[in-house]
Amino acid sequence: MARQGTLFSPKQLAIGSIVVSLLVLGLKYLAYAMTNSVGLYSDALESIVNLAASIAVAIAISLRDKPADHNHPYGHDKAEYISAVLEGVLIVLAALAIFVEASETLLNPRPLQIPILGLVLNAAAGVLNGVWALMLVRYGRKLRSPALVADGKHLFTDVLSSLGILIGITFALLTGLDWLDPLLAFLVAAMILWTGWGLIRNSLGGLMDEAVDEEELEQIQTIIMAHADGAIEAHDLRTRHAGRITFIEFHLVVPSHMTVFNAHEICDKIEDALEEAIQNAHVVIHVEPENKAHEPDADGSMVI
Ligand code: ZN
Ligand code: ZN
Repeated sequence: MARQGTLFSPKQLAIGSIVVSLLVLGLKYLAYAMTNSVGLYSDALESIVNLAASIAVAIAISLRDKPADHNHPYGHDKAEYISAVLEGVLIVLAALAIFVEASETLLNPRPLQIPILGLVLNAAAGVLNGVWALMLVRYGRKLRSPALVADGKHLFTDVLSSLGILIGITFALLTGLDWLDPLLAFLVAAMILWTGWGLIRNSLGGLMDEAVDEEELEQIQTIIMAHADGAIEAHDLRTRHAGRITFIEFHLVVPSHMTVFNAHEICDKIEDALEEAIQNAHVVIHVEPENKAHEPDADGSMVI
């Protein structure tokens, strides 16, 4: 179901991406078959990566939206990372395939054939990709879906590399420089490799419970300090991301004889402030009486 104010739901956009990638893949493969260009071949292979990526995003979005259950009490948000790691591996494989093909072409150059229609088909595929990439980024932002925004940005880098290939092939045809085509393929492969590595790195960070970045950590500390009136200090602050969710936990030291009621009031105030400032924050606070408080961890304590 589409949310209020937006035309499409994340699931519809994810399925739209699969359809667009299939179309683009078909067009680009045709363009390669017509021209024999290894540059256009690398471009077509890149579209297989996009197809895999959009399938991964669709799976991630449908899994992610499953509510927490008995077996997965923290929700299913990490599904997004698993699909992104798979996507990264596929991207790396595609890059390797291009390296192999480009090396062969460099050793045994093939003449480029009837290029014009091929180039037009490839350009049409590029336009389709570009329009869809803009849609994904726009609606992804509206729907607050990092997976869709990332997919759109990823598509956009493909549009740029396709453009580079088209310009290069035209140049190769005009100048008769055979080696330009495989050289472009190498460049595309390197770019694809870089994208794949970035995806794998980010997703592994998420799977390994990487903390929030410095800036967000400082924001969290400031909010805790500003809303903990009545408490003495906070320590052992730990954070981690799981997809769109930010888990935050820490110990709050209160005067030894404060009532549970009052300590809980303070906790609720901090929780509300954190949840308002940080999207999808899940906060757990462990309350300690002053006379039972222990030494804080290496990061020290926040005195209130
Ligand atoms: Zn403690
Ligand atoms: Zn409570």
